[in-house]
Amino acid sequence: MDALKEKIKREGEIISSSILKVDSFLNHQIDAGFIMEIGRELANRFCDEGITKVITIEASGIAPALSTAAVLGVPLVFAKKTKAATMDTEVYVEQVKSFTRGTVYDIKVAKKFLNKEDKVLIIDDFLAYGHAALGLVQIVKKSGADLAGVGIVIEKGFQSGGKLLRDQGIRVESLAVVESMEGNEIIFK
Ligand code: 5GP
Repeated sequence: MDALKEKIKREGEIISSSILKVDSFLNHQIDAGFIMEIGRELANRFCDEGITKVITIEASGIAPALSTAAVLGVPLVFAKKTKAATMDTEVYVEQVKSFTRGTVYDIKVAKKFLNKEDKVLIIDDFLAYGHAALGLVQIVKKSGADLAGVGIVIEKGFQSGGKLLRDQGIRVESLAVVESMEGNEIIFK
């Protein structure tokens, strides 16, 4: 998606050779109009799949997942990282290693929101080593639902998540694939 690549080049900050900061439009402040464009593009790539639900992990996956779900006309379910008193006790749980914090946390989805009649699209903001996406894949599997694929806003192609998912036969669509972030330059695939 050329507009996304241009925006990353213009507004992205290279924090280290492995971390990209895009908090002006995706991860802190959200460019509401642009996030709708992202949703249209992701929805377009999966529009023939008969998707019934979009799933992501709170918090930064929610914006692109919501715009995608809105275009597809289906509900968005986001996995929770903390267990609120109001949350159902019947939940699917998976452990996920956090890329940004290095810690391991549980993600939880109420069983009533995913079932074997669903065809599910996983959406996330970034794909690095694939831990977040694979945690969601496991939850989809546990629910008996069908997985349509994984839609990613920014994939870092020099980290192993994309290969890991694709080697499992999972369809991964990324709107921008960063090949490298050496020096001060972001190179796209
Ligand atoms: P993974 O689980 O694939 O290793 O990492 C994906 C998750 O970590 C995403 O949900 C995203 O929140 C976060 N993440 C991974 N790489 C980056 C990055 O370069 N920048 C930002 N802002 N978040 C990242």
